Order: sequence, then structure tokens, then C-alpha cells
Amino acid sequence: MITGPSGVGKGTLIRGLLERVAGLGLSVSATTRPPRAGERDGVDYYFMTPEEFEAHVAAGDFVEHATYSGQQYGTLRSELERRLAAGRGAVLEIEVQGARQVRSAMPDAVAVFIAPPSREALRARLLGRGTDSAAQVDARLRMAEREIEAQPEFAHVVVNDRLEHATEELIGIVRAAIDP
Ligand code: 5GP
Repeated sequence: MITGPSGVGKGTLIRGLLERVAGLGLSVSATTRPPRAGERDGVDYYFMTPEEFEAHVAAGDFVEHATYSGQQYGTLRSELERRLAAGRGAVLEIEVQGARQVRSAMPDAVAVFIAPPSREALRARLLGRGTDSAAQVDARLRMAEREIEAQPEFAHVVVNDRLEHATEELIGIVRAAIDP
């Protein structure tokens, strides 16, 4: 699983990982957040109403779930199992609270924390992304500050300074885990 603050570039690094390591599948998460422009249901996320999400929580369908910036996010057990059955590994892109839950439920899962080179760099990225309002960016930055504090909990840390270098590092960690 890949974790770290929102805006740190987890998605871009994961795209590089999936392109270059065969047999990995990205687990599509469920969320109550409304789709951003261009996001597709079942591809980027399974978009759900809060009621639908709660029904899955009550049924025990989630491996992990968390509230982030006022919205719910979670990994469906069915999705994870499908990805694991289809290949050599499933990649989860999740925030820190969810990563902690996965770590205790599946201690063998490889956890990688993606860290920003600096707080300023993270702020610039969140603002530059242009997908969130100023208030949302502020809320995400406050969350990010707390998430950065979780970094020492994770055995593997990749600083996303130069993309190519960070992607290579991530690939090295994953390759070592699946082909020891
Ligand atoms: P965004 O709204 O920017 O797509 O995602 C916000 C945060 O939620 C990001 O840090 C993202 O990695 C995280 N996230 C996405 N899917 C999941 C999930 O299934 N579970 C958890 N715990 N976090 C998720």
C-alpha cells in the first residue's frame, strides 16, 4: 500500500510503478466525494452516496475505511480480493488512517510512505492542481501536516523530490517484496 499526504504525488508514482512492474493491479476505492472533472465511476473510484457507503460499513465489506476532509474513503474487500486473485499484487493508494488499519489487519502488506520534499512544495502542488477550492486546499494542508507526522511509523519512505528517482525507488521496494 502506498500512503502519504494528499497532493504528494502518490497517484503519479503509482502510475509509473504499474507501467513498469507487470502483474500489479490498482485497487479502486469507494468514496462519498463527488467526482472531479474527468473522473469515472468504477475506474477512478466507486462513487457512493453516504447511505450506500454506510451500508457497506455495516455489512463489514471494507478492509479499511476512513473519513478524510469530510468525505468517506474505503477499500472494498471484494475489490482487493479480485485484484489479488488476478495478479502478483494489489496496490492500495490510501491515506494514513487507512494505512494503519491495513497494517494491523495484514501485517505482511508492504507499506510505503511517500513524503514531500518540503511543506512548501506540498502547498504549491495542492494549489497548482487546481481541482480543489482554496478552503479545500487549506483543509487538505492541515490534514497533510498531521499525516507527515506519521512518517516514522512506516518502514519504507520515498521522498518525492525528483519524480524519476522516486519512481525508481518505489519500484525497487516493490520488486524486493514480490521477488525476494
Ligand atoms: P482524493 O479526494 O484526493 O482523491 O483523496 C483524498 C485522500 O484519500 C488521498 O490521500 C487518497 O490517497 C485517500 N484515499 C483514496 N482512496 C482511499 C481508500 O480507499 N481508503 C483510504 N483510507 N484513503 C483513501
